Formats: sequence, C-alpha cells, structure tokens
Amino acid sequence: MKTILPWHQALWQQALASWQQDHLAHALLLCGSQGMGKAEFARNFAETILCETGQACGKCKACHLLNAGTHPDFLQVKIAEKSKIITVDQIREFIQYCTLTSNYGGYQIAILNPAEAMNANASNSLLKLLEEPPAKTLIMLISHQPMALSATIRSRCQRLDFSRPEKKLTLAWLQNQLPAKQDAQLLLNLSAQAPLAALALAEDIKKRGELFDSLNQLVTNKEEPIKIAQQWNKGNPKQILEWMNSWIMDMIRYSLSANSSFIINKDIINPLQNISKQFDLQALFKLLDLQTEAYRLITTQTNIKPQGLLESVAIVWHNL
Ligand SMILES: [Zn+2]
Repeated sequence: MKTILPWHQALWQQALASWQQDHLAHALLLCGSQGMGKAEFARNFAETILCETGQACGKCKACHLLNAGTHPDFLQVKIAEKSKIITVDQIREFIQYCTLTSNYGGYQIAILNPAEAMNANASNSLLKLLEEPPAKTLIMLISHQPMALSATIRSRCQRLDFSRPEKKLTLAWLQNQLPAKQDAQLLLNLSAQAPLAALALAEDIKKRGELFDSLNQLVTNKEEPIKIAQQWNKGNPKQILEWMNSWIMDMIRYSLSANSSFIINKDIINPLQNISKQFDLQALFKLLDLQTEAYRLITTQTNIKPQGLLESVAIVWHNL
C-alpha cells in the first residue's frame, strides 16, 4: 500500500472511488503549482490501478515490472534532455501507445508531464486522441500552468485541482521529514508553500547560501562579474535566477515599505536590508526585469547559452 501525502487524501479518495465504481474518466488533468506532488499522485494512482491486488502491493508481477520501469502498460512522457518542449513526435508515440491493446488485459496508463510543454502541433495531435479516447486507457496530464493549455484540451479532461493545503498540515509533514535544526517554516515560505519544493530546497539550502555570498562579492567589488557568472553557469541557472528574483523582490518590498515583516527570505533579512538601502528602487526594478527576461529565455528557448545572460546579470549586480 502506498503512503498518500496528507494533503492529497481528499483527491485520492475521489479518484480511487471513481476507479472502483468504474466511473473513471479517460483523461485526468492534474493541476497545481510545482512542488505539490502531482507527479507522485499520478504515479501512485497508476501503480494502484495496475497492481494485481489493486493496492500497489509492491510484491506482485505488475508491481515488480513497474518498479523496474518495464511495465508494458505504463508510459511516461517528459521533456527530453536538453530540450524545453514536448514534441509532436513524442505525442505521436504517446498516441500510438495509447491505441495499443493492454498487454495484461487491464488498463493502459500514460502520463504526460508537464502538459504545457507541448508545442502547438503536439497539442493538436493530442486533442485528436482526447476526442476519441480508446477504451481502458487512462491518460493523466500534469500541469503546473493549466491556463497555458488550450481550452479544448482542458475541456476534454476531468480536472483534479491540487490547491494549497492548510499550512498546519504541511508544516507538520515537513518537520517530520527534516532534521530538527532545519527551519521548516522558512523553507515553506521560500517555496510558496509547496511542500515538496520546500523539501527539495532543504537539500539545496547550502547552494543558496553560496549564491548569496557570490552576490555579496559582486556588490562589494571583491570579485569580477565574468568569473562569478562562470561559477553560476556550472550550477543550475534556472534555480539561481529564481533565488535572485526572490531576493530582489524582497529588496523592492523593503524599499517601498521600509517594513521588514514583508520580507520572505527571513534568514538573510539583515544583509538584504543593507543592500537595498544602498541602491535606488529604479535600479532594482531594472535588475528584476533583466533577470526575469534571462529566466524566460533560459526556460523557453532551446538554443540559448546561459553564460552570456548570467554575465549581463552579474555585471548589473556589480555596477548597482
Ligand atoms: Zn502489486
């Protein structure tokens, strides 16, 4: 039996009941912000349906095949490495798979994650499948930004909304996962209250500290921007820009209100206040724009080299 995350319970019971009562829709759309555990939910649900006992027992042949990643009735489509989109070729394979007959006589299950990564051609192809879904096939689309999907795709799916759970519930869960010295509340605040994102951040908190040190070196003219940008480029540029945007937003909030209670990055509140006192608001807004654009390019364009973008960001921090 799988452990269901506490904030998934209601949706889980609902999905399980529709399957047990044979009312399961052909396509589910799992919506909610990143870090809510939508992919874990989809995987658990697939394992439960495909398991011979219907309980994701972990012992039967189906469960063994699933664990080995070789179950012939289970397919997951993701963004290919070094790509930023799900292509029409991937969707053609997905469709071909969905129209095959199940190997074990049960369901065929296919997960597409994240659905908004499909380009227009891919999305059109998928729509045809959703309009005429094959019997005994369950398609699960996972989306962090459902509004980025076409309205016709959304209308063909039964929607499961992973809304923000009660804060008490996620705090208790996260505290349970972490050593006592880690500040679970801070991690949740830094992750927009998404519990799995907060858990991942707990692993990365040291990297975040190193990034903040490197910014301090830039601001205090102790290091060259090009060298710092090279360091950043060896890490995860997307993550780096997310953290830096969060810091600038905090500095802007502080500059506008002179009130530190609005600051989200509570653990570095003093240095953030000190930096924001040195710079004018307009410069902070310009830097936020530059970083936001760099983030957009890095996350959406295939042929972008992050180094150049990170250099221009580092130069602005250096010259702030
Ligand atoms: Zn099993």
